[in-house]
Amino acid sequence: MLLTLLLACSSAPTGKVVVLGLDGLEYTMLDRLIGAGELPHLARLMKEGVRGEMEVTTPIMSPILWTTIASGYPAEVHGIGGWTTGRGHSFSGADVQVSRVWDVTSGSDAAVVVSGWLMTWPASPVNGFMLSERFVWSYPMNKDPDEKSVGVAVDRAATTFPDSLAARAEPLRPDDAWVAAHPLAYQVKEYGAPFHPLLRDETHVRVFESLWPEAGGRFGGIYLNGADQVSHLYWAYSDPGVQDAIRKDPAAHTAAAQAASKPGRRALPYADGIDVEQLEQAGRYVPDYYRYLDTVVGRVWSLLDADTTLVVVSDHGFRVSSAQPLINGSHNDTAVFLAAGRAVKPGKIKLHIYDVAPTLYALLGLPAASDMPGQVRTDAFDVTPVAPVPTRRLERVAIESGAADGGLADQQLRDQLEALGYIDEEGLPNASIGGSRRQE
Ligand SMILES: [Zn+2]
Repeated sequence: MLLTLLLACSSAPTGKVVVLGLDGLEYTMLDRLIGAGELPHLARLMKEGVRGEMEVTTPIMSPILWTTIASGYPAEVHGIGGWTTGRGHSFSGADVQVSRVWDVTSGSDAAVVVSGWLMTWPASPVNGFMLSERFVWSYPMNKDPDEKSVGVAVDRAATTFPDSLAARAEPLRPDDAWVAAHPLAYQVKEYGAPFHPLLRDETHVRVFESLWPEAGGRFGGIYLNGADQVSHLYWAYSDPGVQDAIRKDPAAHTAAAQAASKPGRRALPYADGIDVEQLEQAGRYVPDYYRYLDTVVGRVWSLLDADTTLVVVSDHGFRVSSAQPLINGSHNDTAVFLAAGRAVKPGKIKLHIYDVAPTLYALLGLPAASDMPGQVRTDAFDVTPVAPVPTRRLERVAIESGAADGGLADQQLRDQLEALGYIDEEGLPNASIGGSRRQE
């Protein structure tokens, strides 16, 4: 009797997982601030949970790595090769050629909430909610605000699934009064809202906060890119060695900042010269953003019950640039992986980015695939992996319909797909809609 119960428990998908993706989050900064008694939520996560030093693949490009985290596959298989092909094509969710964790979870009849994850536009039909990364349109912080392409209308169709989520998410955008009272207000003021990442990150968090409690979700995913944006421009100033160097020779900093100016880019910070006060302010940008992200960890964590594992993960870290040490932050190939909550075995591990997705599947009680290169990290989680399926590569019909897991049998999902025009009443893909999706 007991054995039957145990077997039933281990085979039934019961665990819930929420992944908070923080682009560019770096351990050296976390350790420095936690060592100073700050970042209480991240400190607790490290103390109570798994701390993984995560090796990532190269090239270190966010669209590639976030798709690997969500799918378990390398770029050659998942289909996202970077931001653009270099031949005028911007990669999007339509180019993803494998199932991601939310597709499979959704196909198993469990609900998902995905908010802002890279390469989720156009938002695909899921059992639950998906707010794509295009819902809040933004520009990189280093983009020239006077450039012609700023403010030009982009394709805003299909930014959410269901469509009605857009109207619901709209009033969740932070208003001016909230920004003005925020500790990062000085940064938003300097750059303006579509360039500084705070408003976008905060919207992604609020949408998740609003949906997760009611969704009955099994998998949640949230993506914030603020740490990456701010670190590219301000990492150097938060480094004590670089601070010393600039204090000793501010003219060298000015020369480096001017030499690095490029057409289409906003002038680098303090390209006209930097004084001691400005250097101090510049040094606050990155730590202040980390302080905000720590509050986000606390907010998300507070929504989760005892059946849920919280994973906080980055796609790469940051370091002082060797080519432009005075002005630039460079990607570091060690990323952050932290986990707490259900099934976690506290301790330190080294892992590979390929291990994330198979481990998420094991936590969810769902099968990973035999052709995924990573491992289920049973050293860090008390899980029994479900026997894998051969592959999670999409076949054409599955690509067209946005569900690759046999979840097609789910009549509700089929009705949704049909209503959207993704499939006809016979369950066959609508060729006119699927035209932009590549065939294997
Ligand atoms: Zn990144």
